[in-house]
Formats: sequence, C-alpha cells, structure tokens
Amino acid sequence: MKERILIIEDNKALSKIITKKMEKNLDFEVIQAYTYAQAEEIIGENDDFFITLCDLNLPDAPNGEIVDYVLSCGLPVIVLTGSIDDELREEMQSKDIVDYVYKGNIEDVNYIFALIKRLSKNRDIKVLAVDDSRVFRGELKRILKSQMFKTLIAAHGEEALNYLENNTDVELVLTDFNMPVVDGVELTKQIRETYSKEKMIIIAMTGNSEHLISAKFLKIGANDFINKPFSKEELVCRINNSLDAKEHLDMMSDMAHKDFLTKVYNRRYFFEEIKDFYNEKAPFAISMIDIDKFKKVNDTYGHDIGDRVIVALSNILKRNTKGADLVARFGGEEFCVALRDVDKKQAIAFFVKLRKNIADQCLKIKEKNISFTVSIGVSFSDGSSVEELIKKADRALYRAKEEGRNRVEIGI
Ligand code: GH3
Ligand code: MG
Ligand code: MG
Repeated sequence: MKERILIIEDNKALSKIITKKMEKNLDFEVIQAYTYAQAEEIIGENDDFFITLCDLNLPDAPNGEIVDYVLSCGLPVIVLTGSIDDELREEMQSKDIVDYVYKGNIEDVNYIFALIKRLSKNRDIKVLAVDDSRVFRGELKRILKSQMFKTLIAAHGEEALNYLENNTDVELVLTDFNMPVVDGVELTKQIRETYSKEKMIIIAMTGNSEHLISAKFLKIGANDFINKPFSKEELVCRINNSLDAKEHLDMMSDMAHKDFLTKVYNRRYFFEEIKDFYNEKAPFAISMIDIDKFKKVNDTYGHDIGDRVIVALSNILKRNTKGADLVARFGGEEFCVALRDVDKKQAIAFFVKLRKNIADQCLKIKEKNISFTVSIGVSFSDGSSVEELIKKADRALYRAKEEGRNRVEIGI
C-alpha cells in the first residue's frame, strides 16, 4: 500500500495543484480535506499519514487550531500560510512542526514538494549531534526529530567517537566547539582520519565569541558551520544543503563507478576495488560468469527483455554475495564476481550452488516465463596478478562453454 499525505486546505484549486504534483512525482497517495471537521473525520478513520499539510485559516478553524489538533494526534505538520506575520511565524516555530511555508505561487508549491522528498529520504539518514549543554542537546534532538532523522545525541567528543565506532552508517555530525576532554575541533580531526568530506558531513556549531574558530573548523575538514544562537530554520536549511550536495556527489560517483543498466560496478572500478583484496592477504576467488546462448534470448523475446534478463542476473549475483564481495559487469551478458576471504573449497561450493540456483529459477517478464543458464569459470588467488587470474577464469569459462554450458570449471 502507498504511503499517504493529508492536505487540509480550503482553497480547492491550490489543494488540487499540490495533489497533482505529489501524485505525479512522488510515490504517495494524497488525501484532501477542506475543513477542520473533515480532517478530524479522516484522521479518526485512519491516522496513518507520512505528513500533513495544514492551512492556518480554515472556514471552521480560522486561527491555526488545526495545527494543535494534528500535532496532538502525533502526526508531522507542515504549516501552510498566506500571511507573512512574524509573530505568527514565531508562534508556529515554537511548536514541533516540520516547516512553515508560504503558499503564494508555484515556487512555494515546488518548495513543499522538495521538502517532502527530503523528509522521505531523511528517514533513512542517521545524524549524530554533540553538545555538552543539556538544554542544547534537547533542542537539537527536537529539531532533528522534526525533520524525521534517525538521531543520536552525545554529550562530548569522546562519547561521539564511541557512537561512531558502533554506528558506521552515520552520515552527518553536528558538533559544538567547546566541550570537555575532546572538543569539536579534535573530534572533527579524528573523524577525518577515517571519513572524507564526501562520506561524512560535519557541521560545526560555534558561539558568538568564537568567530575565529569557524575558519579553523573549515580548514580541518568541516563541511559547514553555523553560529550560535541560530534559528531552527537556518540549521535545517544548512543540514539540507549539505545533504543535497552529498547526494549529488554520491550520484556522480555512482555514475563513474557503476554500470548504467544493472547498477553493479563497471569493469574499470572492479580493477580499483580488487586492490583491497590483494592488500588484505586473505585467500579469494575470481569468477567469470556468462549467460548461455544469450543471442537466442534476444532473438526470441527482443532486446528489451534481453536487458531485463541481464538485470535479473545482476540482482541474483548481488543477492547471493556479501557486501564485502565484488560484483561487476564486464560487458554484454558477462559478469565478474570476486569472493573475499574464501578458500578453494568454499568458493567452488558457492559457484556450484549459484549455477544451480540460476538454472532452477524461472523469471516472469511481461507475461512470459523465461529460464536461462550460465557458465562459470573460477580461479583462485595464488600470488599472480589480477589480469592473470581473470585470464585463468576466462579460459575456464571457455572450457565450460565447450563442455556443453551450464557448468562450473576451474582455471589452472
Ligand atoms: P554463449 O555465450 O553461450 O556462447 O552464447 P551467446 O549467445 O551468449 O554468445 P555471445 O556472447 O556471442 O552473444 C552475446 C549476445 O549478447 C550478443 C549481443 O547482441 C548481446 N548483448 C550484448 N550486450 C547486450 C545488452 O546490453 N543487452 C542485450 N539485450 N543484449 C546484449
Ligand atoms: Mg553468452
Ligand atoms: Mg558473451
């Protein structure tokens, strides 16, 4: 079932525009309510909403009453308003809302749209906030929660480093400067020993009297800084900007390293990554895997379905290997899989089972049942170069084809 968004807005034209855009571009079902009473009824029936958009001025609730009601139901709120009233803005920001948005023109609708997209991604992003002030920690926690982040809170640098050891999936660190034992600068230095600026975002928070510290933070690798005291809006914008930039870089790196069709590594990147296998000294195995009689798949079902078979194979390879192993598409319907830290016996057992799994399965693509087999050539780390190991696996693959296909052969 699709996740749902609730729009409570009496301007039907506006509500329609937002709904259309959401449903077209995001994978959400949008429910519309035009009054407080209607919203109450809808939420009463099923309160499972990812987010609600609340107009402050409704026919039966002209003073923002809807916001308190929706918040009391435990639902996240984006406030929609027609007026630029600073007092009202302050009042709303003091509540645990996600954001406060003017609804003047199409740009504002685009902003709401980008915001929802951001929130939906934030749910999978882990943020670590570090500050020695208890009050400030509470405030940071509240702000980060309102943006739907998975949140960790540490009281000093040492605790933050401990958290990072056990939470290697943290993507963003917010750190105070002045803290006992390990301060913000030291924390940033230590994080940068392991994680680059592209891998982990660090935003430093510095007090008014510490303006020289901001430059120091940036020089040792912080991505951004923010002066205390700051508004919730400024902090959220800075976090979002940094995350957007990181996502762009991730995307570019993916484009350079991954195959467009299957999203597994390309041949060039395989040669980069396999270097780690050599550095680690543990035994490993390399295999060349090629679909049997693939021309016939293309001829029988067409090139599009041929592509989907290639994607299906890449998914099987990803599913069957571990994160530390390598799966790369070397060309057409030919893949190279490298298994990390395995002896010969384990590697052979793995590929024998893989071949059988592939042969036993039946894909359903566009109403057609499609089965295919692969031939596999395997070689084992023996001190020779990766080029040599690939040659050995290739020769074994050639033999597997000659011997009748749908087989595993070992390279020597
Ligand atoms: P075998 O490997 O068992 O000897 O036979 P084969 O039919 O698989 O032989 P071959 O490797 O010569 O043919 C591979 C075919 O795969 C030829 C090419 O048209 C097709 N092919 C290569 N790349 C793609 C691709 O990206 N998509 C699709 N649909 N087909 C591709
Ligand atoms: Mg083939
Ligand atoms: Mg081929």
